[in-house]
Amino acid sequence: MTFKGPVEHSDTSSLVDPFGRHVTYLRVSVTDRCDFRCVYCMSEHMSFLPKKDLLTLEELDRLCSAFVAKGVKKLRITGGEPLVRKNIMALFKALSRHLETGQLEELTLTTNGSQLEKYAGDLKAAGVRRINVSIDTLDPQKFKTITRWGELATVLKGVEAAKRAGIGIKINAVALKGVNEDEIDDLIRFSHGEGHDLTLIETMPLGDIEGDRTDQYLPLSIVRARLLDRWTLEDIPFRTGGPARYVRIKETGGRLGFITPMTHNFCESCNRVRVTCTGTLYMCLGQEDAADLRAPLRASDDNGLLFEAIDAAIARKPKGHDFVIDRRQKRPAVARHMSVTGG
Ligand code: SAM
Ligand code: SF4
Repeated sequence: MTFKGPVEHSDTSSLVDPFGRHVTYLRVSVTDRCDFRCVYCMSEHMSFLPKKDLLTLEELDRLCSAFVAKGVKKLRITGGEPLVRKNIMALFKALSRHLETGQLEELTLTTNGSQLEKYAGDLKAAGVRRINVSIDTLDPQKFKTITRWGELATVLKGVEAAKRAGIGIKINAVALKGVNEDEIDDLIRFSHGEGHDLTLIETMPLGDIEGDRTDQYLPLSIVRARLLDRWTLEDIPFRTGGPARYVRIKETGGRLGFITPMTHNFCESCNRVRVTCTGTLYMCLGQEDAADLRAPLRASDDNGLLFEAIDAAIARKPKGHDFVIDRRQKRPAVARHMSVTGG
């Protein structure tokens, strides 16, 4: 596959929203499909987008490169499961040119790990230095219950392969009431024992999932308070440019992050936007407003229209989200699934 560059365009002014926040982080969902069906993310019988609606890998490369030209320093490839997209390594290889020029500081990935054993070496070769792998439980049976279709052993092999390849790993675990809340200590021991960071995430009300989210929602303020009985948590200034707040666990020496969209509003320092696999730009994970970038992308080989559409969208980036998980309101706060916007 050859990625032909677009006609360059001179408007590469940086992206600053109406609240003075610089947008330097783009998360790109390269597919809405997945080989798992995690209970908090998808319903078992999801309908996926027709393949023709998806941006091609060349278009994704052009779109990402336009954002890089406009000052984006960090690109996270996500999904759905990004590693199930056919020929996805071609996109990583193509994007790695921006690491070589220094325009891009980080090219990274969020994955369920199912294909990691196969791709770890290629990812490293494309300049990927750190990845996020989602593992909510270390109990194989429970893993199957949460992911419906996943195999823990395969994922752990993938994590080992990534570690061997020299890729830094952060384990992401969604805290689920009555499901993995008794396993947080094990996740800490495992992650820190292997030299990985661990981040805990609150469930967010995104998309219909055939179930009641109030049953799953576990505030991390409670988890954190419980951890204090057994661990010494030391606040540290470590940040990765994302919403996680980190502590060091004195007993393990490892880092533990908390992403608390529900109990703590992290919007003030938001530096990110998300683009779906169909080229829809969401300026906020928790709001419906969006901009279509596929039409300007396809309208011309010149990036002028695309830059204009990006600028207009960033000028509308909202101040923040207002997620509520409420028993009276059973509908999700945002209708689209996390697998569409990209986690
Ligand atoms: N398939 C990849 C994975 O699982 O890592 C990447 C996409 S997934 C949508 C990204 C992250 O979003 C995962 O860590 C997943 O646990 C998280 N996630 C999905 N639905 C969520 C929800 N409703 N609330 C909070 N986190 C969610
Ligand atoms: Fe797939 Fe990731 Fe969603 Fe699980 S969280 S269903 S692995 S996209």
